[in-house]
Amino acid sequence: MPLGEFELIDRFFRGVALEGAGEPSAVILGIGDDAALLNIKPGQQLVISTDSLVQGTHFPDEYSPDDLAYRAVAVAVSDIAAMAGRPLAFTLALTLPEVNESWLARFAAGLTAAARDFEISLVGGDTTRGPLNIGVTVLGRIRRGQEMRRQGARPGDLLCVGGPLGDGAAGLSVVLGESLPSSLDEADRAYLVKRFWRPQAQCGLGLELARVASAGLDVSDGLLADAGHLARESAVALHIVGAALPCSPALKRWPEAQRLEWMLTGGDDYVLLFTLPPASYERLDVWRSAGWPVSVIGKAMPGEGVWLDAGKGPERFDRRAGYQHFQGTKDV
Ligand code: ADP
Ligand code: MG
Repeated sequence: MPLGEFELIDRFFRGVALEGAGEPSAVILGIGDDAALLNIKPGQQLVISTDSLVQGTHFPDEYSPDDLAYRAVAVAVSDIAAMAGRPLAFTLALTLPEVNESWLARFAAGLTAAARDFEISLVGGDTTRGPLNIGVTVLGRIRRGQEMRRQGARPGDLLCVGGPLGDGAAGLSVVLGESLPSSLDEADRAYLVKRFWRPQAQCGLGLELARVASAGLDVSDGLLADAGHLARESAVALHIVGAALPCSPALKRWPEAQRLEWMLTGGDDYVLLFTLPPASYERLDVWRSAGWPVSVIGKAMPGEGVWLDAGKGPERFDRRAGYQHFQGTKDV
């Protein structure tokens, strides 16, 4: 390699913006030693999640390194938000086919933007040579016993979603240059591409949900598939009303059938999906006035499975219709 590993880390992964983002008091020791040290205050627990992005599987060949870095951090942070945790720091396991300095500079710029947006610092990692692979581990904190799990929804709870659905899949379609509706203008495209490459993990909303939502997770595999996880873990049926699904103005440019398919089974939205017990219904108004676009899309009922009412009464969703990791090649 033209650049040694240490020089590479020093040049691209060290610096005030990346290492100093977030809560300075959380990091005792960051990059440079054998391992990092974090400060966890009494009464708090550590919440940890890892995500890997593999070229051709998790992201298209046409990408810009800064978007790729941003997305790698954002999707890992989203899992912390989905536990109602506060992200603190992250590590980066980077496998590169070659050392390309301009690529690395752009990648580091995207990492820095994400570190700033999600208020987390880079505290360590590993750098190896091989097929391009970006592994991000995010560490966060949560007050003891306040985490939001997939388990806990009860019949009568409202099913809510933290933002518009289907934008991730529509964004990927724009990124791939598929045939697009003629009414889709430049601003719509830019919005959707950003929704795909720079998803906004819902950390603020996640913190609001601690001890308020009865159960929750983030929508990464598609609404129906993720609702299925929640229904199974909570041992309830989830009834979804098709007409209540929130749709962005950009997504409205597509015909209804395509829109609905993406809202229900397209992945990559990274909005929170959660259940709200009757005692907390009034939080909806508070969140909406605080600017969180939370929508009620259905209800938990006795029974099992995910049911969709697309206008003709509830029909049980067949799991095979959603994105299946084991049938596809996304994860193994
Ligand atoms: P070791 O061989 O002891 O694992 P390394 O030479 O791999 O140490 O790493 C030296 C330091 O640089 C460590 O603090 C490690 O966390 C950090 N580091 C290595 N690669 C990265 C990376 N891609 N991003 C951030 N920090 C990194
Ligand atoms: Mg190492």
